[in-house]
Amino acid sequence: MLADLPHASPDPLWSLISTFRGDPRPERMDLVVGMYRDETGTTPVLASVRKAELRLAEAGASKAYRALVGNATFNVGMAHLLLGQDPARLARQHTMQSVGGTGALRLLVELVARATPDATVWSSDPGYVNHRPLMTAPGLRFETYRLREEDTGFDLGAMLEDLAPARPGDVVILHGCCHNPTGIDMAADDWAEVSAFCARLRVIPLVDMAYQGFGDGMQADAAGLRRVVDENPTVLVAASCSKNMGLYCDRTGAAMVIGPDAAALVPVSPMPERIARASYSMPPEHGAAVAAALLAAPKGWLREVEAMRQRVAVLRAELGAALEAEGAGGGFASLGRQKGMFSLLPLGDRAMQRLREEHAIYGTDRGLINVVGLTSAQIAPLARALVRVAGS
Ligand code: PLP
Repeated sequence: MLADLPHASPDPLWSLISTFRGDPRPERMDLVVGMYRDETGTTPVLASVRKAELRLAEAGASKAYRALVGNATFNVGMAHLLLGQDPARLARQHTMQSVGGTGALRLLVELVARATPDATVWSSDPGYVNHRPLMTAPGLRFETYRLREEDTGFDLGAMLEDLAPARPGDVVILHGCCHNPTGIDMAADDWAEVSAFCARLRVIPLVDMAYQGFGDGMQADAAGLRRVVDENPTVLVAASCSKNMGLYCDRTGAAMVIGPDAAALVPVSPMPERIARASYSMPPEHGAAVAAALLAAPKGWLREVEAMRQRVAVLRAELGAALEAEGAGGGFASLGRQKGMFSLLPLGDRAMQRLREEHAIYGTDRGLINVVGLTSAQIAPLARALVRVAGS
């Protein structure tokens, strides 16, 4: 059997990370890994998380099996975080704890494949690198729509033009906020148009919410999602607690199915449980128990998320200013106004290779960098290096 396996090369992102770890140059910069880092370059355990963990450890609850849907308190808390307090909206959702945001995406696409195996999933180009493998895993077709910005902001026309051939029942992935990898977010008017477009074409929005709280704030970042939910009968949501709670390795997320009304969900809700049962059975409890505590008494946690959000915004502004001071061209001008951790630099593979080889600066070949992988001291050398390799 083993000899018959098709060749699979190692994941390019993780190969790059391991090259970085072996780089002996002390000035090396890791802008590859998609994790928040503080000014000391570490990915901290939030104080609110540490407190919740201590309380959980003291309570010493049994590690008995829980439920296929995971932690019920967490699921309710996540529904409120994503959808707000509106009872009509909340009555239309079924939420299930998942193995991170990735697990939520996989549960949801498996659900789509069981209902409409001939559906096409539409994702942005550029887009999150794992969307294609996730969406095609159960055999669905995969197409892309352009996601870009003009001087005036988000290019809605390009997006809707590419989505025009979508058929009823197709799925359109929308990034809830802080688009990965471009940092280009839709404005409220764009969300309104996209929401109306989905309703008119009867395509199903799948909102990937991996960075709630990192863009304009916890509630503001969910405004687009809530609009889509209010105007479309069926919506899917994949949420991650990796970034906004710092629970990366605890693999905590939520898969939400929204139907036209509560009655429509009754026959649907066992299906994601059956899918989970045939895969990993139950999701890990620890991260969800911590998250449930944060969601129940959110004050301290929200303060910490706001501090992380502001650090991202400050780093973006400082990098933008440093690039301007170095005389960088127009392609870099939008870095400062983009949202979230990621930006796509206007650099080709050769320039990214030169950054690695000549300056020990690691981003991915497509020009993707994690802005919050930087410390303030690294901004000036980064801006200098970017200007040197640009155009190669
Ligand atoms: N969706 C997007 C857009 C992401 O950027 C990420 C993580 O980087 C995920 C989903 C997956 O999140 P998780 O690490 O919780 O699986």
